Amino acid sequence: MPRIAYVNGQYVPHRNARVHVEDRGYQFADGIYEVCLVIGGKYWDLDGHLARLERSLKELKMRAPMQRASLIVVMQEVLARNHLRDALVYMQVTRGVAPRNHPFPSDIIEPALVVTAQRFDLDASDAQAEQGGSVITQLDIRWGRVDIKTVALLPNVLAKQAAKSVGAVEAWLVRDGKVTEGSSSNAWIVDQNGVLITHPKGHEILGGITRENVIVCAEELQIKVEERPFTTDEAHGASEAFLTSAANIVLPVTQIDGKPVGAGAPGPVALRLREAYKARARRLA
Ligand code: PMP
Repeated sequence: MPRIAYVNGQYVPHRNARVHVEDRGYQFADGIYEVCLVIGGKYWDLDGHLARLERSLKELKMRAPMQRASLIVVMQEVLARNHLRDALVYMQVTRGVAPRNHPFPSDIIEPALVVTAQRFDLDASDAQAEQGGSVITQLDIRWGRVDIKTVALLPNVLAKQAAKSVGAVEAWLVRDGKVTEGSSSNAWIVDQNGVLITHPKGHEILGGITRENVIVCAEELQIKVEERPFTTDEAHGASEAFLTSAANIVLPVTQIDGKPVGAGAPGPVALRLREAYKARARRLA
């Protein structure tokens, strides 16, 4: 069955999906994106993703490619045409195609919209969570507005590659001695009193949809959450650590820079949150 992508008004075989060489996303990273988790054929927290997409567009003074209702139709159609039940759907909006020049084009141009989907293997993700993964720390060299979900991800790419090259699953980014977030996930620790700690929202992190929902799950489980920056030393002394993202849900972190976190195995709080998160997604999807 061929994979189908949506590209600027057309559903095309994925292998033929193309954008123009003067797309501003390609030339200037002048674009934004979303990655949505689909479980059992249903988008999880679609409202959260669409609100974040609209916020990113607004922050960059970019037009929406279509109304929210039409975008939902396209997203459902991509899922249906790919016959997917559990999936990750990628959506990208760029300012559009114009002769290369830094300022916004003076002519009104159509924003470009691409939507693709890939299968999400929930069992493989569960198996990985049972194993946990290690992270390394890297300097956070990103720009000052990483709360906008732009496709300008080169520092994230370099950090993730550094992690991969030593067999780690993620790089935790450190600014002024504090962990901001991962290269493509939010970072969490559990202190020795069982309190969850994660960097507050603001310009220094991307407000993860998973992060938001994990906070709700924690409240339901009566686990205390502190939204404040934590240092790498605190992370080393934590009883547990984990990361969150649409693609990982909740993934326990068992080592930081080669040193075990807590018992060096996936922690009970992270695993409980993961189960609660999946249950909530099934209930609300
Ligand atoms: N931070 C960064 C830098 C990310 O790229 C992501 C994933 N897109 C996240 C956090 C997690 O966000 P979400 O939970 O919405 O996937």
